[in-house]
Amino acid sequence: MFMTKIFTKLLIVLSFIVCYPCFSQPLDKQMVRVGIRPEEVFSTLRLQSFSGNWRVEFAGASATRDLLTEGEDCTIMLVPKGMVARFSDGKEFGAGFSKITFSGGALLNLEIPDLQPVLLQNIIEVDFAENSMRLVNKITVHQHVVSSISKIGITNEPEALKALCVMARSRLAWLIANTQHKDVPYDVCDEEHCVPFCGCGYNRELVDILASMTADQIIRYGGKPILPRYQNTCGGHISSAKDIFGTDEPYHPAHPDLLDGKGSENCFHSPGFHWTIELQKVDFLDFLSIAFAGGADRIYTGWEPARVDSYGRIQQVTLRGRVPKILSGIDFHRALNEYFGPNGIKSMKFTMELLRRTIIFRGMGQGEGVGLCIYGADGLAKKSQKYLEILKFYYPGTEVKQ
Ligand SMILES: [Zn+2]
Ligand SMILES: [Zn+2]
Repeated sequence: MFMTKIFTKLLIVLSFIVCYPCFSQPLDKQMVRVGIRPEEVFSTLRLQSFSGNWRVEFAGASATRDLLTEGEDCTIMLVPKGMVARFSDGKEFGAGFSKITFSGGALLNLEIPDLQPVLLQNIIEVDFAENSMRLVNKITVHQHVVSSISKIGITNEPEALKALCVMARSRLAWLIANTQHKDVPYDVCDEEHCVPFCGCGYNRELVDILASMTADQIIRYGGKPILPRYQNTCGGHISSAKDIFGTDEPYHPAHPDLLDGKGSENCFHSPGFHWTIELQKVDFLDFLSIAFAGGADRIYTGWEPARVDSYGRIQQVTLRGRVPKILSGIDFHRALNEYFGPNGIKSMKFTMELLRRTIIFRGMGQGEGVGLCIYGADGLAKKSQKYLEILKFYYPGTEVKQ
């Protein structure tokens, strides 16, 4: 009787081990579909095999397949009947396809006219919607974490990089489950509001190793995965998600980016800690009219901060005009970024000095102001903090678990 019980238990354990991979693949091995440059409209692209031979599958009425060998390239064009392709060795595929898939090689270089080339790996799918082609890169969560953190992780500190890997993986896991992009064939786009992604051309060996060391770990609050927020530099003070986004996220409270008794602010060494920029008043008015105007009721002659949090970060802005408009500091900042670029007004934590023709902005920090400060994480690692301590510091009340 006793032996039967043990045998049954053993059988259950064994079958769990055997079956486990079938129903729950480790997070880092799961695939994520990344929309590449989804905002751009383009009808031509070129893919060149930098490394390996790529299987190319043409889907549509006259489906076919071929091989793109190393060094060869393939130009795809969108024409009224669908997509057509031409290989550099002269092969033509002119039937008008609905989808073209590349897989099996190591590295593929993507060129879209007028845009920076991007190096891609794993699976690349090209299809189209209306007048633009669409590109989706299917990669593993691990590959995505390595690519994004190699690019945005300005640090060489292993503990800071580990914290960043866990942060990026948590965002991906959350976004795969709660996609911000509906009715499109991808889970995340390549922009900052999802996770910034510009292919694997910047990949760093060190990040790859550290991502593997923290494999499958994500940040949880009350057992549930969270969407951790982050910024390049907080400028000494982190604002709460409540103040900036109006959302209830207890793990994103306001606090100074300062470790008790350990010197200056954690991100004090960031080039974005203090910044100044002088802008022409006319340029600023142009910005207001281009970004927000429309019709007679929407002509704005100026703006002012409407609400500022205790750290001096502008939470809300009033646009002055016949009918004033109130908008969040975050929306105003995103519009500023789009108009003046990332090196214009780096954050909403600034003061202004009005001169006759110009405005001098003096600011602190770079980014939206909430969550992990990347330069601060680097500073904390330099103050001997381990990655779990760094994550606890920026996301209080959370735990890191698989
Ligand atoms: Zn997105
Ligand atoms: Zn900071």
